[in-house]
Amino acid sequence: MPRHGISPGEGHPRSSWETESDRSRGSPRLRLLWIGLAVALALPDSLVLWAPTGAHPLPAQSHPARFGRLVPQLRNAFGWWNLTCPVCKGLFTAIDLGLKKEPGVAWVGSMATKLCKLLKIAPPTVCQSTVQLFEDDMVEVWTRSVLSPSEACGLLLGSTCGHWDIFSSWNVSLPAVPKPSPQPPKPPAPGAPVSRILFLTDLHWDHGYLEGTDPDCENPLCCRQDSGLPPASRPGAGYWGEYSKCDLPLRTLESLLSGLGPAGPFDMVYWTGDIPAHNVWHQSRQDQLRALTTITALVKKFLGPVPVYPAVGNHESTPVNGFPPPFIEGNYSSSWLYEAMAKAWESWLPAEALHTLRIGGFYALSPHPGLRLISLNMNFCSRENFWLLINSTDPAGQLQWLVGELQAAEDRGDKVHIIGHIPPGHCLKSWSWNYYRIVARYENTLAGQFFGHTHVDEFEVFYDEETLSRPLSVAFLAPSATTYIGLNPGYRVYQIDGNYPGSSHVVLDHETFILNLTEANEPGATPQWQRLYRARETYGLPSALPAAWHDLVYRMRGDTQLFQTFWFLYHKGHPPSEPCGMPCRLTTLCAQLSAVVRRAFGPRAHQGNRTFFHGAGVAKYRRGQLLCLCPASKLPWDCCLSWLWSKGLRWYCPSRPDRSWAGQPGTLYCCCCQVARLLK
Ligand SMILES: [Zn+2]
Ligand SMILES: [Zn+2]
Repeated sequence: MPRHGISPGEGHPRSSWETESDRSRGSPRLRLLWIGLAVALALPDSLVLWAPTGAHPLPAQSHPARFGRLVPQLRNAFGWWNLTCPVCKGLFTAIDLGLKKEPGVAWVGSMATKLCKLLKIAPPTVCQSTVQLFEDDMVEVWTRSVLSPSEACGLLLGSTCGHWDIFSSWNVSLPAVPKPSPQPPKPPAPGAPVSRILFLTDLHWDHGYLEGTDPDCENPLCCRQDSGLPPASRPGAGYWGEYSKCDLPLRTLESLLSGLGPAGPFDMVYWTGDIPAHNVWHQSRQDQLRALTTITALVKKFLGPVPVYPAVGNHESTPVNGFPPPFIEGNYSSSWLYEAMAKAWESWLPAEALHTLRIGGFYALSPHPGLRLISLNMNFCSRENFWLLINSTDPAGQLQWLVGELQAAEDRGDKVHIIGHIPPGHCLKSWSWNYYRIVARYENTLAGQFFGHTHVDEFEVFYDEETLSRPLSVAFLAPSATTYIGLNPGYRVYQIDGNYPGSSHVVLDHETFILNLTEANEPGATPQWQRLYRARETYGLPSALPAAWHDLVYRMRGDTQLFQTFWFLYHKGHPPSEPCGMPCRLTTLCAQLSAVVRRAFGPRAHQGNRTFFHGAGVAKYRRGQLLCLCPASKLPWDCCLSWLWSKGLRWYCPSRPDRSWAGQPGTLYCCCCQVARLLK
């Protein structure tokens, strides 16, 4: 998404680049090629920044695949068949050198700003600020990745000239130790101790929140000083927050933390990041550090001696999503952030954890005997982390380190909890599949997975690799503290089997608490935090183990009432006014079963007639056709099409026509290809 920072200009007037290109012979074609490549990579994702789901954009189509189609077209259009490898490398070296100099960065910035304004991607002032914020990092990344002589010429002229491996596949190695036979946890004995874990995520404190300002402004984040006042016909932002594209004032976070009493007491706290607000076009390192220290101090003040274990979110950095792997050193590196985190969180984390936190923003520790907690830096899995263009192979060696931690825990007979910000189903493909494999290998050891980032209340079920039908793990995606977008403020409490010798440390149940904003913002009202629901009671679950969540999805498939309950809770008690019809429901259910990366429409999906974005699932009508209902997922193909099938609608998968008709009428089928088309 932030890649638009260097988008030099699709639809850019021809005369402009011609004038520029007069400076060096032969460069017009290369410049156009460069523009083509840049636009191809940068543009589609850039729009996401301003989409309603901007904080958590949907994955776009894979870049190598896009290039695979683009290259022959560009070759024909610009005729570089005769370009030799040394000349190609020479040209890209020159381009890189030129770009990295101040005028080069300024040129890229001005082109990107023009493009942003031309396409009305954001209001002009937002375009300007965003480009300024991103241009340096983006030029650095692009000259070291897509535009590096080896990568670019490898792509253009083939592997004899260089190696194109942007987002290429990779594998972590698993130890030779055979996988123990699966042993599902036994229910705890009656009266066994139950541990309560407070789960906080996506606090998104807006320092500039201002009551009475316009909640429906044109900027990507409203209810703040720069939003202006609403027209007389509409009310301004509420005192405690607003059902709009707004984050939270400090007082609401204080109220949340001070009102935790009835939900406690807590044995520990998991806190999975996204501390700053969504004003991503205007954030300095100083702003981010102020958010980190202010909110950390607030959490300490209200939770006192309860141990808190944080994870790094995608909004902690600036530019947003910019998390260079540890091989990037100097001013571009993340050390300004990780050092500050290590200092702020020093009293919560042991020295060994602070050490890896400083290097890569992840760590492991043992909160109790028999339990290992692993906090992952999920920005190293993220497709929005533009630094991974340089090298996306197991960034920071984090997954290989995770395997080591899990194997050591298995050897000791310990159980493991994993916490992180971005859920595994939203990651880059190779990262996601490797993670899936690791989860399956260590199913006996891994007792819980806890994530945030989507801001809604959902989950992702993992299956065994052999049959893809036995649920073996579930990742809980807890709802945000923030209202962004249109939600009630909220938090989660997990009940865990433990802590006693031999406890399984699995989730026994969870509860979600909210602040009803409509009531809280009434004149004279005081904020009342209340329990919204208890999972097992509400859904009638026999346990909170993976199979129960799998069954719940299948029950919701046939029970509209049950699904509506889920839909209400998914939005923390404030669902959108538009009802969740059939495609929306299918997509939402499918997303709960897909713990690997989903292929979905990129931001251009907004240009169609109707688009549904619910979690990572996407369904879309375009010109009366339904496109890509269900993401390609590592699932039995039993996920999402029964309603359509039962109505006699037919599916067509362009990439796998042979698989288009699999299954029986009345069965729920997941589409097998990345883009499916529904034919009437
Ligand atoms: Zn967030
Ligand atoms: Zn996030």
